[in-house]
Amino acid sequence: MDRTGLTPQEVTAVIQLRHQLHANPDLSGREAGTAARIREFLRPTAPAHILEGLGGAGLAVVYDSGQPGPRVMFRAELDALPIVEQTGLAHASCRAGTAHLCGHDGHMAILAGLGLWLEQNPPRAGQVVLLFQPAEETGEGARAVLEDPRFAALQPDWAFALHNMPGMEFGTLAVAPGVASCASVGLRVTLCGREAHAAQPETGHSPGAALASLIMALAPHSAAQPMGPGFRLATLCHLNMGTPAFGIAPAQAEVWITLRAYDDAGLEAFEAEIREVVARIGQGLSPQISRHDHFHASVNAAEAVDHVIRAQNAVGLAQGSFPMPMRPSEDFGAFSRKTRMALFFLGAGLDQPALHDPAYDFPDALIVPAVALFSQIQRQVQAG
Ligand SMILES: [Zn+2]
Ligand SMILES: [Zn+2]
Repeated sequence: MDRTGLTPQEVTAVIQLRHQLHANPDLSGREAGTAARIREFLRPTAPAHILEGLGGAGLAVVYDSGQPGPRVMFRAELDALPIVEQTGLAHASCRAGTAHLCGHDGHMAILAGLGLWLEQNPPRAGQVVLLFQPAEETGEGARAVLEDPRFAALQPDWAFALHNMPGMEFGTLAVAPGVASCASVGLRVTLCGREAHAAQPETGHSPGAALASLIMALAPHSAAQPMGPGFRLATLCHLNMGTPAFGIAPAQAEVWITLRAYDDAGLEAFEAEIREVVARIGQGLSPQISRHDHFHASVNAAEAVDHVIRAQNAVGLAQGSFPMPMRPSEDFGAFSRKTRMALFFLGAGLDQPALHDPAYDFPDALIVPAVALFSQIQRQVQAG
């Protein structure tokens, strides 16, 4: 037995599961295979029930004391990324162009380990829900799970999730009340004029000048700025105009922009400003804007953060250094509007390649301390 209460054989089984998940990654929204693998791993741990197909391929594994008490949710993500892995590892992805380069395979293995622990240490009050959530990378999964009518019966009193963090000393933990990850949204702007002969562009209406004005209007928001309540960032992600033909002055243009702000209110104000800019520069070009990949800010509740810090001290994990909130978004933020939650960061090591880097691989040695931490949080919440 180690400090998680798992036997060496169980730790080995969880690490093997992590490698199987890593070798067989699924893209956002298509995670049925991954969910089935987790279901089969956790079925022998005798959960009260398993809910499948939540918000897509989502899986909720529920351990029930049969007594009144708090419902605690721990969450991991099912999805991988559309990137070609370059780790050269024995357990590297067998699916071309798809890879677990954000460590979601490790997060799932941690919850699987927690399931093994719950088999030996079932809740004495309330319930524990292990949620394996789909489509985190696109920002759609958490919302889809929350909107699934079957989720109402699982509405947690507490919700906890971790994300491993390369660049943070291995095994250290960072958590703070308030905003933990920024809000963001993708805007797809289309402009539509009228084609003309390239020799007579004045007879048509090209979106070229408007496109240039839009790019210039975004420029002041495109540089890095200090993190704080006024933080804003606009990143130009994709441009397209006309057709590749020298004889035609173009009619159509399309711009993809990601807006990011400190919190939900900041993002709402930023988006309203950019929409005004688009309406102004797009006059006569029927400007249209559609929203994509919207992430709420993740806002940590003080009481949930207290539980994480108490568990951190009990398990003996050092304080990690990590600037909060992080600029990237996390769709766990969707839960902060519904429940007391804490999202925290666990150091994956200073020399670890960055998240989404083709050479990244989740460090297996993080699994045991993370299971110990989550099981300690469960003990504390249950004790009240
Ligand atoms: Zn990611
Ligand atoms: Zn991630």
